[in-house]
Amino acid sequence: MSIPVVAIVGRPNVGKSHLFNRIIGEATAIVSDEAGTTRDRHFGRAEWAGHDFWLVDTGGLVEDSNLPMDVAIRRQVMEAIEEADLMLFVCDARVGVHPSDARIMDLLRNSQKPWLLVANKVDNPESADYFEFYRLGVTEVYPVSASNGKGSGDLLDAVVGAIPVTDEEIPEAIRVAVIGRPNVGKSSFVNRLLGEDRLVVHDESGTTRDAIDAPMRYHDNELIFVDTAGLRRQSKIDDGVEFYSSLRTRRAIESSDVCILMIDATEGMQNQDLKIATMAWEAGRGLIMVINKWDLFEDKTDKSAEKFRKDAAEKVPYFKFVPFLFTSAITGQRVTKALDLVLQVQEQRTRRISTSQVNDALEQLIARLQPPQAAGREVKLNYATQVEVSPPTIAVFGNNPEAIPEHYIRYLHNGFREIWGFTGSPLRIILRRKN
Ligand code: GDP
Ligand code: GDP
Repeated sequence: MSIPVVAIVGRPNVGKSHLFNRIIGEATAIVSDEAGTTRDRHFGRAEWAGHDFWLVDTGGLVEDSNLPMDVAIRRQVMEAIEEADLMLFVCDARVGVHPSDARIMDLLRNSQKPWLLVANKVDNPESADYFEFYRLGVTEVYPVSASNGKGSGDLLDAVVGAIPVTDEEIPEAIRVAVIGRPNVGKSSFVNRLLGEDRLVVHDESGTTRDAIDAPMRYHDNELIFVDTAGLRRQSKIDDGVEFYSSLRTRRAIESSDVCILMIDATEGMQNQDLKIATMAWEAGRGLIMVINKWDLFEDKTDKSAEKFRKDAAEKVPYFKFVPFLFTSAITGQRVTKALDLVLQVQEQRTRRISTSQVNDALEQLIARLQPPQAAGREVKLNYATQVEVSPPTIAVFGNNPEAIPEHYIRYLHNGFREIWGFTGSPLRIILRRKN
């Protein structure tokens, strides 16, 4: 379920960003119908021969840093080794083997992760320029031209052949992602829940996939905290690799059922928090807002929590439907309450309402407020049914669906929520034509 990450590494000017654009262009770039565009300056989603993967261009890591070149390249490669499932090591066939290439290769060889050597700028496949890279002792060199696309199909075949097969999912387990900006207390919180020593992820190279997702049982339910290794690692990461942390947040959201978005009470709700919340909400995940470090919140009265929540809901309308929990990961206050909320939200998100109930609700709502009539034609809504769970999706059928204004859809939305709640879950309404 978690989509593998492929990172492009190499010296500056070997053509990493050209190759990034070429692959994203060539492998069907999926524009998500959920979370807006999946393309960033530094990473993009691609699909080739039925395999999805994230592609990361690590070029920015070197260019944006003030470090000496070799130190910057080393860091770029080490970060990739830690974060990615497969590395594409790009060299410049016109230059030949560069001393930095040999050093990168040593790092990759020691990484215990799969990688491929790509000789770029082989614009003419007949050219023998790239043979020289075999001297490095690799079994295969992939010649490509990022400029004209030659060789990129073969490279993509090799990429999807080399990315690890993703874990099989345990179907009944509820997957929980704890997300939020650095230092808000995510690892302290998860440690509290799992028991202190559970999150000590062994940092020897080759941290395995199964160490990344931590399972636990709660009231006969299995919960899996996804990417707990990422929480650990994050503290070591600074701005230079921001793109890895935003990619990680995205992956964690995508591979979860319920997201716990953690905010630092002393810092309040920031734009970045709203962005992450919306990413999770639009992806159809359950959402719980945890306001942590509540022990440090100043001038607390018994109204403070309510006020915090109200202020947040003024910024983001859907927060009305999202549970807020005020915790201290340090004292442990209300931390386990989060697990109750996870179960509750998951229950709401997977809830199935019978068609007769949905129809009754629609009838009542229409009786209370008719859809506005368009000039010269009747606008009628006839019936409704829940077509999906996770998140609940209700299809409403009518003779003129395009004539139903946004505010009336909102009215239905609020009406359905009044009846069924769907707390912490997005609710989608689709209008369909049917007389
Ligand atoms: P990066 O620093 O590794 O990301 O490299 P860029 O993608 O910015 O490319 C560096 C330079 O190499 C640019 O001037 C590109 O036009 C050129 N370049 C990249 N790929 C190719 C290629 O396949 N063939 C040729 N001839 N030039 C290329
Ligand atoms: P992460 O980067 O989001 O995983 O945050 P950490 O769990 O590493 O916490 C960052 C810092 O905040 C650490 O120094 C924690 O001890 C501290 N911290 C975390 N939760 C709380 C809390 O509820 N109250 C207080 N006072 N400090 C906290």
